[in-house]
Amino acid sequence: MEDGQKEILYSNIEIKKRVGELADKISADYADKEIIIIGILKGAFIFVADLIRAMSIPCSVDFVRCASYGTGSESSEKVVMTKDIETSIKGQDVLIVEDIVDTGLTLKYLVHWLEERNPRSLKVCTLLDKRKRRKVEFEADYVGFSVADGFLVGYGLDYSERYRFLPDIYVIKE
Ligand code: 5GP
Repeated sequence: MEDGQKEILYSNIEIKKRVGELADKISADYADKEIIIIGILKGAFIFVADLIRAMSIPCSVDFVRCASYGTGSESSEKVVMTKDIETSIKGQDVLIVEDIVDTGLTLKYLVHWLEERNPRSLKVCTLLDKRKRRKVEFEADYVGFSVADGFLVGYGLDYSERYRFLPDIYVIKE
């Protein structure tokens, strides 16, 4: 894909402001608690890094990696876990941090997977939410931006492993 085939959707300034608001809300909701953040690789790594540094509560961090088959721009039906957490979450307050929820299949699968480990609480924070594209019922507890259909890149999000490094979020033009 050549330059010029994507247009900016959220600038880094807008993202930073919204991440700060989410961090404030999470910090207030979990005041006096120490939470475990579970980021979903690879897309959420930048969001996790910015979110935890904007929070005013302590946390520990772990990551999972879930893959759906294919590397193109369509999410597939089949979700598999390719990297599990390395921390015990039993009896802990856990917050899953995701870059984008699309069909909801990944989060539905992951929430079920983690609930089996008996955390005290389990919530989900996503930077981006394509609510209209759900194939399964799923509501995140914290949402940065609700977005319409369209394939997004930048700020950790890729298209076939490209564009993750971009500080802003872009939508790929049809
Ligand atoms: P879901 O399981 O909700 O359909 O999809 C979640 C995953 O699909 C995300 O973690 C992300 O990897 C990928 N995905 C969904 N929509 C987009 C998008 O617009 N851009 C990028 N880069 N990935 C997306």
